[in-house]
Amino acid sequence: MRNSRPSLIRPVAFPDSVSTPVVTPLSPSVVYASDSPDELDAQYDGDVQGYTYAREGHPNADVVAARLDAMEGASGGVVTGSGMAAVTAVMMGLLKAGDHVVGGDQLYGRSLRLMGQDLPRMGIETTLADPTDAARFAEAIRPETRMILIEVVSNPTLRVADMEGLARLAREKGVLLVVDNTFTTPRGYRPFEVGADIVIHSVTKLLAGHSDVTLGYAVARDAEVQKAIYDFAVTTGLTPSPFDCWLAERGFATFDLRFERAQDNAAALADHLAGLPAVKRVLYPTRDDHPDAARARALLGGQGCNMVSFELTGGRAAANAFTRAADGLAFAPTLGDVGTTLSHPASSSHRAMSAETRAALGMSEGFFRVSVGLEDIGELCKVFTTAAEAAQTAQSD
Ligand code: PLP
Repeated sequence: MRNSRPSLIRPVAFPDSVSTPVVTPLSPSVVYASDSPDELDAQYDGDVQGYTYAREGHPNADVVAARLDAMEGASGGVVTGSGMAAVTAVMMGLLKAGDHVVGGDQLYGRSLRLMGQDLPRMGIETTLADPTDAARFAEAIRPETRMILIEVVSNPTLRVADMEGLARLAREKGVLLVVDNTFTTPRGYRPFEVGADIVIHSVTKLLAGHSDVTLGYAVARDAEVQKAIYDFAVTTGLTPSPFDCWLAERGFATFDLRFERAQDNAAALADHLAGLPAVKRVLYPTRDDHPDAARARALLGGQGCNMVSFELTGGRAAANAFTRAADGLAFAPTLGDVGTTLSHPASSSHRAMSAETRAALGMSEGFFRVSVGLEDIGELCKVFTTAAEAAQTAQSD
């Protein structure tokens, strides 16, 4: 038996084996027993490696962090209980009252809420700017600006940030450049290579990939910055459960294959949608008619992403008819699942915005964002054709 310190109530320890498991073992233990106060001191001082309490760290989180570190070309990242936990740990772990942050104006809805409502409540001021134009960010920078937060490809209009311009600006002004790389994934883009200081992921999405895990990740270039993020996450309980980490790691095994298939499907679906009469416009970063096509090609190395957005010619009635006729596609506001999902920003992620603001950002009642999955592309196109025809009929009723 391997365990040298079995407890009285759990006398049976894990059986020894000369052979080793092929799959990472799940380690749900919340506490880890140490040999003595001296050893515990040595653990906390970092002189020996040992776990103490799961909120502070556990083997399954470390395995996931090491895999993500390798994907991003980083080290020492922390896994969190959700993507928003990662965003929160980065912002609240590093900023203080009086500081100022500039964020992209099309960030994920909850990141926008954090910036618009929660940070200001704590005395941290925020400004939003268009990340496709670094000059807009330059205008927003103040002496007390400490951080820029952007997503490389924005949700849901799939605009591509001026990464080089923003990295240059952050460097010149001495502010931290934080990149939420969820949409692009490390396969599409590696922010540290252009000079990002911190990279964030919602691992919930493509990386884990099966809609059965909620998890996030944050990694900083600088070890002291990373420690502040880690300490805030541990203090406020933003750290993850072993089972979620274990499931996410299983998802990583197929990430490359899923990414390639989903991206190929998305590019083909975008072209298909563009030919449907009920569709007014299609947004896909590497299509010639996308406003940032040239930048997308340069930044993403010829790759696109698994997301396609499009606008039906009709309004809410057409949108309702579309989702009802889209057999086999989940109308669900998430992304990165093995199956294709449809999201309608006006009734979900962007419902808190006024109709005018949504319209200014190009999100009408007929606007959809599609997270393209791994289905047979022929079958997928058929479902979209049928749903678009239903939308057109509803519109003309
Ligand atoms: N960042 C982006 C770009 C997202 O799309 C999301 C969620 O959709 C998040 C962060 C938040 O991630 P989570 O839902 O895992 O908290």
